Amino acid sequence: MNTLLNDPVINVKGIGEKLEQGLNSLGIHTVEDLLFYFPARYDVYEIKPLSELLHNDKVTIEGEVISEPSLAFYGKKKSRLSFNLQVEYVTVKAVMFNRSFAKKQLQIGDIVTVTGKWDQHRLQITVSNYKKGRAKSDAKIQPVYALKSDVTNLQIKKAVSTALSQFQDSLQEILPQEYLSAYKLPGRLEAAKQMHFPDNHQMLKHARRRFTYEEFLLFQLKMQLLRKRKRESTHGNSLEYEKQAVDEFVEKLPFRLTAAQLRSLKEILTDLHSPYRMNRLLQGDVGSGKTAVAAIALYAAITARKQGALMVPTEILAEQHFQSLTELFADHATVVLLTGSVKGKRRKQILQEIAEKEADIIIGTHALIQDEVLFQDLGLVIVDEQHRFGVEQRRVLRDKGLHPDVLFMTATPIPRTLAITAFGDMDVSVIDEMPSGRKQVETYWVKENMLDRVLQFIQKEVDNGHQAYVICPLIEESDKLDIQNAVELYEQLKEFYAPKTSVGLMHGRLSSDEKEEVMRDFAANDIQVLVSTTVVEVGVNVPNASVMVIYDAERFGLSQLHQLRGRVGRGEAQSYCILVADPKGEVGKERMKIMTETANGFELSEEDLKLRGPGDFFGKKQSGMPEFRVADMVHDYRALETARMDAQHILEAGSLDKDPQFKQLAMHVYHDNIVMGETLD
Ligand code: ADP
Ligand code: MG
Repeated sequence: MNTLLNDPVINVKGIGEKLEQGLNSLGIHTVEDLLFYFPARYDVYEIKPLSELLHNDKVTIEGEVISEPSLAFYGKKKSRLSFNLQVEYVTVKAVMFNRSFAKKQLQIGDIVTVTGKWDQHRLQITVSNYKKGRAKSDAKIQPVYALKSDVTNLQIKKAVSTALSQFQDSLQEILPQEYLSAYKLPGRLEAAKQMHFPDNHQMLKHARRRFTYEEFLLFQLKMQLLRKRKRESTHGNSLEYEKQAVDEFVEKLPFRLTAAQLRSLKEILTDLHSPYRMNRLLQGDVGSGKTAVAAIALYAAITARKQGALMVPTEILAEQHFQSLTELFADHATVVLLTGSVKGKRRKQILQEIAEKEADIIIGTHALIQDEVLFQDLGLVIVDEQHRFGVEQRRVLRDKGLHPDVLFMTATPIPRTLAITAFGDMDVSVIDEMPSGRKQVETYWVKENMLDRVLQFIQKEVDNGHQAYVICPLIEESDKLDIQNAVELYEQLKEFYAPKTSVGLMHGRLSSDEKEEVMRDFAANDIQVLVSTTVVEVGVNVPNASVMVIYDAERFGLSQLHQLRGRVGRGEAQSYCILVADPKGEVGKERMKIMTETANGFELSEEDLKLRGPGDFFGKKQSGMPEFRVADMVHDYRALETARMDAQHILEAGSLDKDPQFKQLAMHVYHDNIVMGETLD
């Protein structure tokens, strides 16, 4: 890399030891660090027409003093100076605190430029800065840097300005000319100057665009290289599955696969067959048919004489999958269930079946990853709702086989590029299409005072032969309160609906026998209204249920609400989701509105992302999301996609190693070893 830019920052003229220390504490060690220490924000001293000023904004206006400034003292040494300014034929009141000296400087007839907070209602400005004379046309946009210790904004401005001229020859272009032209991006040095000292908004925008693209392209190149290398270096198995048997199995399903299911299945089967180890994420909305695809993949593994494991987050879900897969594989395979509540003799027997390969397909919760579970020949591992398991848990399960292929599934749809970014080296398949004939769930948002009507509505649906879920408020701090809440709500509803309609209760503290009994009763319509905590969130399938009521809906994330909503709309009948919420803030209201308007999980997740930001979205710990200086993965999503495709193209063409135009870029790509968050080895 360029040696001069790696010089210690003290080599910039005018920076002494003390300032160097201050800069170090801001993470600025080299000249390069300084040049790329972009402003956190900008102060804009731009004169706009009065009509365009926004209430409470920091604004700059220019006008003529038309009243004698009057000074008032109050408290100890506090003062308030006020005078009228004529701005565009309008009289604006200017107020300055604790600047009594200004009284002498301001006379009627003076032209002044004042900056401060704008009060739209009183046509008043609280002045923080003033200058006699008209605003200069230059330096309207001023950098404001993030500061720490006793380094001042002015010191950084000066240091950056000096560094930009002193080291301008070292700040070389790294993007090939053809890319700059194609995207109309400014050169690197020019863009860096504009980031710090923008001539105007337009130039600043272009500078940001340039660095956004540069950051994304470097990031994508590094990541794709990493994936490629890793893929080529990991050993895997080539599963010799029987294609014809798999085709016949698909033929016999009671439905035709959707195009998206077929595409995903093909990608998975190709992975299984390849000598590399599959490390793939299958994404799809609730009910889009992921499990169906997973089942076919498991079947393929069996035809290759391997064992397959399916790990799911809850016992209920494990039991449901066990039932449906047992039916599906009736004459083809032996399916066993291993959860925490399979105990004693039965457990021993199942463990033995797994070890001796009498069991072909093993379904379970995290019980599957305990030491005592030994597979004889595990070829395919599928992890459902992968985000519910920690990285470590997923790794342990995967290591139980000899390089088994691994498929992760998630119903929390994440835009593809973000998924690749967030999950590093995974390949991604997307089921972005619902099986035909599904009715959309109608979603309503009501305030708490409408509860009575909601309960009546449930009664009406029940009278029509349907069933309802009522999800109680979630109390994160306390498991105990959570359950207490559920019990109380259950008692209330029981009273409300007695004696005709039967109400059931489900929560995490029930034993698995009790849970199963409740679910069985609900599935058999012996229970019509099921009060539950979020344990029903994933996977539970009772097609006759047509109403989902969610109390305190504002406490849930959009994706979680969407999951819950996915419990209904599984049968023929029109289904409804009713969100009961009195959100306080604007964001909360916005989220409820989005839920009523959007049925598409991908759109919802994008909205969720916008409202919460990627850190929150993925959960801080597990994300390991890369940090960018300028780029923003959510707002600059399209640039990320462009960069992804360009990177792919560059790597496929081998340009980094061959084309002299790419030399600088190659140096940057190969230079620092990228630190990815969640790489799976
Ligand atoms: P997911 O796992 O994505 O939530 P499932 O695989 O459980 O979805 O499918 C939901 C329901 O739709 C199941 O009852 C399944 O049998 C059915 N199903 C799956 N694929 C199709 C399809 N292509 N056409 C019709 N029904 C389907
Ligand atoms: Mg393979």
